[in-house]
Order: sequence, then structure tokens, then C-alpha cells
Amino acid sequence: GKKARDWEKKADRKVARAAVLGAGIMGGGIAYQSAYKGVPILMKDINQEGLDLGLKEANKLLAKRVDRGRMSATEMGAVLNSIDPTLTYSGFDAVDIVVEAVVENAKVKHAVLAETEKHISDDTILASNTSTISITSLAEALSRPENFCGMHFFNPVHAMPLVEVIRGEKTSDHAVARTVAYANKMGKKAVVVKDCPGFLVNRVLFPYFDGFSKLLRDGADFQAVDKVMERWGWPMGPAYLMDVVGIDTGVHASAVMAEGFPDRMQLDFKSAPEVMFENQRYGQKNGKGFYAYV
Ligand code: NAD
Repeated sequence: GKKARDWEKKADRKVARAAVLGAGIMGGGIAYQSAYKGVPILMKDINQEGLDLGLKEANKLLAKRVDRGRMSATEMGAVLNSIDPTLTYSGFDAVDIVVEAVVENAKVKHAVLAETEKHISDDTILASNTSTISITSLAEALSRPENFCGMHFFNPVHAMPLVEVIRGEKTSDHAVARTVAYANKMGKKAVVVKDCPGFLVNRVLFPYFDGFSKLLRDGADFQAVDKVMERWGWPMGPAYLMDVVGIDTGVHASAVMAEGFPDRMQLDFKSAPEVMFENQRYGQKNGKGFYAYV
């Protein structure tokens, strides 16, 4: 297929202004990275606590740069000022791209995307940061599916170089080009991939998580598995990774994969993450997952 740089050449307009829906782990990270790379961004959530968490995370990352002498306090202030927290769609009619990063639930995303479409111009590109839900299926909620694609960041956004840009059946070249241009502007390496549940990276990652769940069912100790995977050379093992991702997000994403690939990704037992989810152990985001965080 076409290389990301060929797509960028097609971008008729660079991204000057952006918006993100959801100020959670990913939305907060996307807002920070966009502002830090010079693209002012509106950050919308449904409650003030969500916005506060997103801003707190951006503050923490910027303060670290100032501490290390990589940024002045004035520059930090300017970056923070270019993140505009909001509970409404005010200003959405003037952005070039909106990245949706709300909970991993197709129904919620359909509703949020359809609502957002009413507040943006015909020229605005709408992109979903979904981990697993097919872009073609999400596009069914939209009257301008050609302006819609996937823009899948990885966690933590500021540190992970890759962004998957996903083409749905009706996605236009223009939408792909603008999204690639935005990813590049954010300092990321974009790869344009085909649409299916899980896209590329999560097609590889979720079978690994399933393998881990089967090991636990068979009696393995999660800390021992983590240690072995770290010694093997991975930055972290599967239990810790799930805590970072969010057990709730992981369980919802697993369900999408199981539905998309019933013969290969359906587990015939209740997995440890599912049990943890039922017991409100959501990982680092609420202080308890496989591990406890204070
Ligand atoms: P999160 O639970 O940290 O944050 C979700 C945020 O969305 C919350 O602040 C919530 O208040 C907000 N929200 C819910 N409904 C909303 C609405 N109608 N409008 C605006 N905001 C709304 O979740 P997250 O980990 O940031 O995940 C967000 C998306 O990114 C999901 O689709 C997830 O699959 C995807 N994703 C997650 C990761 C990860 O590692 N966590 C990685 C890549 C992609």
C-alpha cells in the first residue's frame, strides 16, 4: 500500500486546530501531545472531574520537562493555555480534526459521534481512537462517513511513537491524509491499516492477553509471568500492562475481539480480568488491578 509520507503529500491543508472527546487516560494524553507540538486543542468531557484529571496529567508531564531543564515555566504556561477544557461543543465548528476517545463501547461511541457531527463543519475530519471497534461499523452512525477514520494512539500517548490510521469502507483519501498529517505533526509515526476488529496491533496483542488468561486459569502466578516476560526483554509483563491500559477498557476490547473472531478469540471460561472488572478493580486508574497502587 501507500506509505504514510505519500498520504501526507496529499493533505491539502495542515492541521491548525484540533479537539478531543474524552479527557481520560488517552484523551488527556492526546491533548497534552497536541498542545506540546503546537496544535491548540479543545478537550471535551461529560464531567468536570474528567477534565480535571486530563489537565492534571498534562501538568505533570510538563512539570517534568521544566524540572529537567527542557522547557521554561513560560513555555509550560503557553502549552497549558493551548489546552481548552470544555463541557460543551462550543468552538468545534472551527477545528480541522476531532479525535474521539470516550469509553470503548460501540453504543456510546455511535451516540457521541452522531452528536459531534452536528457541531462540526463539512470539512472537519472526525477520527476515533477506538482500540478494537471496526471503523466501518462506527461510521454507520454518521451522515458523512467519508470524513471519518480511525486514529489509534498507544498508551502513554506522549511516549509511544506509533499511530494506526484506519480506513473504513467509506473513508476518503482526504480524511486519511489529514489524519496522517496530524499524527506527523504530533511527532508520531503513522501507519495506514485496513479495517477489522483490533486493526493490526491489537490483532497481535489480544491473543497474547488470551494466552496470559489461559496460563492463569491453568494455575500460573501473574507476578511470575510478569517477571519472566520482563527478563525475556519486554518493558513490562501482561498483568502490569493490563493495569496500565485499564482493566475495564481491556475487558470491553476483549469482548469486541471475541465477537469479531468467535472461532479464535472466544474464551470458554471467565478470565481473571473479567473477575477483576466485576469487582471494580480497573487497574492504575482506580488504584487497584492485578497490583495495588497508592
Ligand atoms: P478512560 O476511561 O480513561 O477515559 C474515558 C473518558 O471518556 C472519561 O473521562 C469519561 O468521562 C469520558 N466520556 C465518556 N462519555 C463521554 C462523552 N459522551 N463525551 C465526552 N467524554 C465522555 O478511557 P481511555 O483509556 O482513555 O480510553 C478511551 C478510548 O481510547 C477507548 O476507546 C479505548 O479503547 C481507547 N484506547 C485506550 C488505550 C489504553 O491503553 N487505555 C489505548 C489505545 C486506545
